[in-house]
Order: sequence, then structure tokens, then C-alpha cells
Amino acid sequence: MQDLTSEPVFRAQDQRKQTGQPLPSCAQCKEIKAKRYTAVQQGDQRMAEAMATAMGRHQRAVHS
Ligand SMILES: [Zn+2]
Repeated sequence: MQDLTSEPVFRAQDQRKQTGQPLPSCAQCKEIKAKRYTAVQQGDQRMAEAMATAMGRHQRAVHS
């Protein structure tokens, strides 16, 4: 089974966390992360991938 936590967008966040730089945090980030977490817990890989894509798109649109 694919390890969804190793997707680049989330790995980049972990690295940013480790370097002590502030993470972009907004209501939409939290919502997308929560939905993705739920999808992973339920084994819904399609939804998890959709949320990963949504997160990447959102971060480029809002936090770059
Ligand atoms: Zn955001």
C-alpha cells in the first residue's frame, strides 16, 4: 500500500516544521488536512490523493 504521508507536499511541510519556520496555517489548510487524514484512516486512497492535490493547489494559490 502506498504511503500517502510521503507525498511531496506533506513531506515539504514536515521539513519546514523541522527547520522551525512557521507553517502556513489557515482554516482551509486545516479543513483539507482533516479531510485527508480521515480519508487515510478510512483507506480511501482516491480521496486522500484528491486532498493532497487540493492542498498543493491551495498552498500555491494562497501561501506562495
Ligand atoms: Zn491555507
